[in-house]
Formats: sequence, structure tokens, C-alpha cells
Amino acid sequence: MSARIVYGVGPSDARLIAIGEALGKSEDEQGKPFVGAAGEILDDLLLGAKIDRRKIYITNVVKVRPPENKLDRLSEIPNPETGKGYTIEDFLPLLWREIEAIKPNVILGLGSTALQYVAGKHGKSNGITEWRGSIISALDSRPTKCVFTYHPAALFDRDRDQHSGEGAFSWRFKAIMQFDFIRAREQSLFPEIRKPDRYIKICRHSVDLWRFLKENDVQI
Ligand code: URA
Repeated sequence: MSARIVYGVGPSDARLIAIGEALGKSEDEQGKPFVGAAGEILDDLLLGAKIDRRKIYITNVVKVRPPENKLDRLSEIPNPETGKGYTIEDFLPLLWREIEAIKPNVILGLGSTALQYVAGKHGKSNGITEWRGSIISALDSRPTKCVFTYHPAALFDRDRDQHSGEGAFSWRFKAIMQFDFIRAREQSLFPEIRKPDRYIKICRHSVDLWRFLKENDVQI
């Protein structure tokens, strides 16, 4: 039996694409991304960031439900096109085609799987904790601007598929995620990465420093 494939949903002129990891039980049953418990958290965060869900495109890196929601068991599902078990890489051409067709101003990547496959960042000291909230580039040729944050399902116990408050991250992380969602909304207004202007003054000795503080009216 082949697994149900669920494609992204949303308008083709969306300025923001949200990318999750893979389908859960409810998404598999209903044929739409983010409609279960993780979807409820997503809705909350979108509301808090004043992002209209109907105006964004929502998709996943992996477009089937891995057994027991465990990505490392994805290969147990046969891919009819290759005759072998699915790999995450099997889904990447489709993901890049979605991004290429929509040409969003920003990708809001949800969790470390999206971070790895969309922006190529993974491993110790290079994961979601290090990169969340930063404005970085995707691996496509444009390249598309991205903001990543923790996956909504990290806030609850995945196995129970409900909000038990016993997830990988404490519920307090939701406030950080809210900040990242707001940043993604701001970044969705324009496509380019705008680096902030930084003015660096090098003080070679204490008199230089003293002058700088006086000139800039810095109270110490
Ligand atoms: N988790 C995801 O990453 N995507 C969904 O669609 C649902 C839960």
C-alpha cells in the first residue's frame, strides 16, 4: 500500500512560505498540512504575529507521514517511483519546485529538518538553537531569504499528539517562536536581505574612548 502524499496549500502569490517537517496523523487523515495539534500551535503563532493563514503557503519537507511520526523510519514506506523505501532526499525536488513557483519574499522554516534541507545547516553548534531568528539564505539559486524557528511540535509530546506541556522544549519557548514569526512577517514585505548599517569606531587608547563617549553623550 502506498502512503498518502500531501502537497502544500495556499495561494500561488504568497509572500511567505511556512515549511514544516512531515505529516502527522491528522494531516495524513485530512490531506492538508498542519491541521492537527502542531497546526493549532501554528495558528496561535500566526495570529500573534498578525499573519493571515489564508495568505501564506504551508508545506512540509517530507510529504508523507513517517511510521509513528518518526523520520528515521521513513524508509519503511515504499516509494513507488524508485521501488525502494522513501528517503528525505526523494522529496526535495518537489519542495524546490514549490519554492521556485511561488517565489516568496521569505521562508519561515519550522524546526531542524527544514533548517537542514532548506538552508543546509545541521549538526552540533550549527542547529536550530544557533540559527533560529537569524535572517539567512536558502540553498536555491535566488537565493530565497529565510527565518527559522523551533518546530511547533517541539512544545508538546509528539507521541501523544496533544498539548501535554511535556515537549522537547518548555512552553516558554513559545514566546521566542512568537518573536521569530513576527520577524518573518516583517521580512515578508520585501525579498532582499537587508544588512543593518553598522558603524565601528576603533578606540586605540583611553583618550579616544573618552572622546567617543563624550561626543556620543554616553553616560557611564
Ligand atoms: N508537523 C509538521 O511538520 N507538518 C505538519 O503538517 C504537521 C505536523
